[in-house]
Amino acid sequence: MPDDCIFCQIVAGEIPSHTVYEDDHVFAFLDANPLAPGHTLVIPKEHHERLNDLPDDTADALYAALHDLVPAAEAAVDAPASNVGFNNGEASGQEVPHVHGHVIPRFADDGGSPIHAVGGSAPDLDDDELADIAEDIAAAR
Ligand code: AMP
Ligand code: ZN
Repeated sequence: MPDDCIFCQIVAGEIPSHTVYEDDHVFAFLDANPLAPGHTLVIPKEHHERLNDLPDDTADALYAALHDLVPAAEAAVDAPASNVGFNNGEASGQEVPHVHGHVIPRFADDGGSPIHAVGGSAPDLDDDELADIAEDIAAAR
């Protein structure tokens, strides 16, 4: 584990957190600067910077925990909805370089935005360009 990783230190119990879940592979705790009551971070215990770096079994465990914790976080704060997302890489706004999924409970009229608001200026892509990009993504797997 990198000595200076805040989230590794939380997993190791060296920095306190409001822990909501822990298993062999995953740790979840409340965000210290919540965007909503119940804003929860779900992380792999092992240090990896980006989703792209996760081994398959860790990715599976992370998704399984999210699957369990999203409804739990909503229920705990009586929220009818949530946004679930990852800032994946520095250019996306990721500040802590240890993979973490945000679970942000949402309420009608809470003044927030949908996940569509995270992008920059929207590109104008015609159907051929979309087809090329889809092909490139499929080929890059
Ligand atoms: P991101 O911009 O996706 O890297 O988000 C990092 C998140 O970690 C932010 O929402 C912070 O509020 C949160 N955070 C940073 N330090 C702590 C900490 N010690 N305990 C809980 N959450 C933290
Ligand atoms: Zn770490």
